[in-house]
Amino acid sequence: MSDEVEVLVDLLSEFLGDPHQHYESKGQISFDCPVCAEEKGLDSGDGKGNLEINYGRHVYKCWACSETHGTHGLLGKLFDQYATKGQKKVYNLIKPEELKQEDVRRPKLRLPEGFTTFKDSNPRFIPHIEAYRYLTSRGVTDEMIEKYNIGYTVNGDFAYRIIIPSYNLDGQLNYFVARSWVPKKMKYKNPSVPKDEIIFNEGRIDWDKDIFLCEGAFDSFFLDNSIVMLGKKMSKLLFETLYAKANKNIIICCDGDAFEDGIRVYAELNGGRLYNKIKIVKLPLDKDVCDLRGQIDEYYYEMR
Ligand SMILES: [Zn+2]
Repeated sequence: MSDEVEVLVDLLSEFLGDPHQHYESKGQISFDCPVCAEEKGLDSGDGKGNLEINYGRHVYKCWACSETHGTHGLLGKLFDQYATKGQKKVYNLIKPEELKQEDVRRPKLRLPEGFTTFKDSNPRFIPHIEAYRYLTSRGVTDEMIEKYNIGYTVNGDFAYRIIIPSYNLDGQLNYFVARSWVPKKMKYKNPSVPKDEIIFNEGRIDWDKDIFLCEGAFDSFFLDNSIVMLGKKMSKLLFETLYAKANKNIIICCDGDAFEDGIRVYAELNGGRLYNKIKIVKLPLDKDVCDLRGQIDEYYYEMR
């Protein structure tokens, strides 16, 4: 073990207890998850060792409760929640430069002021009713609302908009889509982060399964394992990520009025290790992906 790894492992053991497995070659070590222990009302670890830490990448994840309790992310978050001030100071000294710079370079994106999920808001509150009605009218179900952590706000710059958050690989908010449910000049309003610097809900993608590419966040609710382009064009980052990580087919699903844009994306992707793995869907002019509700495979278009 290098000195730094040793310091880090000691530091983690101070507030997480003794480690379980340690794979030095992979830079991975596991501990009892403090969140799981809290859930079970225990004062010390639950003995399961579900919290896995990759100290090369400085990330952590609990195999039991990451989905339900957001127990995943950069190690800094774990330190913020469970370490003492002194332990945090030591960690800040050994954490890699690029993580330090990231902290100062851009303030962390937050959900808009007043954001609430539907389950945390009063179902008799008029905006709650209106926002929910809007979602229902677009075919969005309670399961989708829950799965994607969809909410709304009535305050600040994003007032009277439905908010669809996007999380990165480490479970941190990296973007959100804000769609008004009342008539407004701008249907969508974007956060300060440039959309070509993120991959929408990257943490949800299974790179070993077919991936659907779609234009908008609403489309993605109806397509299993989909990536939202946030428009009709594919960003350079998305191209590079797909090229490096996608192992199965990529199916382009543009709205009916955007088939030409879809063809352009097709041409960009269909080469190298992705050659012959790109498919495209052609929808009737007046249809978009949301209208199909899972019948997308009837619309594959044969490219030659
Ligand atoms: Zn846990």
